[in-house]
Amino acid sequence: MKCLNCDCEKFESKNIRFNPEVKGEEVEVVVPSLVCIQCQTPLMDAEQMNVLRRSAADKYRKKHHLLTSEEIIKYRASLGMSQIAFASYLKVGEASIKRWETYFVQDVVQDDHIRLKCDDAYAELNALEVHWKSQPSDIYSGNRPFCLELFKQAVRYLIGFTKSPLFLNKALFYADFKHFQQHGMSITGARYIHLEYGPCPDQFQNIYQLFLLKGVLICGGHHILKRLEKPDLSVFSDSEKKILEFVAQIAYKDGGQKLLKVSHEEQAFKKTEPLQLISYEFSKELKI
Ligand SMILES: [Zn+2]
Repeated sequence: MKCLNCDCEKFESKNIRFNPEVKGEEVEVVVPSLVCIQCQTPLMDAEQMNVLRRSAADKYRKKHHLLTSEEIIKYRASLGMSQIAFASYLKVGEASIKRWETYFVQDVVQDDHIRLKCDDAYAELNALEVHWKSQPSDIYSGNRPFCLELFKQAVRYLIGFTKSPLFLNKALFYADFKHFQQHGMSITGARYIHLEYGPCPDQFQNIYQLFLLKGVLICGGHHILKRLEKPDLSVFSDSEKKILEFVAQIAYKDGGQKLLKVSHEEQAFKKTEPLQLISYEFSKELKI
């Protein structure tokens, strides 16, 4: 074996930084390679090339919240299936499984399909998402159907001012109810429920769980949620943006303490029973 650059025949093994392209996007990986001891030019054997390709694909997958090759292998292993059986279970060709488990990045639709077929929790939350979509728009949703996308962007925006779900939930409550008060319609269509800790979006644990699974939010320590990406505020109308900013400004001052405190004094909270849905009619009497 000779160095392609200087003809030297001596090599050593080193970890080398590479910047290969995956789906038109440059990623950075550090993988073992042989390098010429004189000029340091890397020279990879077939096995090292495979490691490089797989590492690059996995780097891209992580960045885009797609299953990594290892996670796909784990799913298959948990079902106790061979690659052939797994391919037939997912209704794809065996070659796809072989490639997904190595260097070929599955697209978003394929990724969703794999999760749905392999992850109970994911499938359950997906069913919930469908269920939410079919819920009516009434006085408990603020006269519009629940929209997960709007709720997601509102969460992404407000989590920047409130760290834990405890405060985030109050900020969402005020944003939706305040907008209803002024414009006769909520922002996200979320239903709020009377819980011990104040008004909270109905099934918020499930929704945040879904966001954690889909990489919308990450857990930033004990009871702290963080967003991975900035919100896309273009989904909101001007009046919705104004209300969101209004609530964010209040939360910004103390992390949401005031919102939490006052939410317990609201008629919306005091005049509803524990676990009961809160009518948007109460927005007339908001104290904030
Ligand atoms: Zn060399």
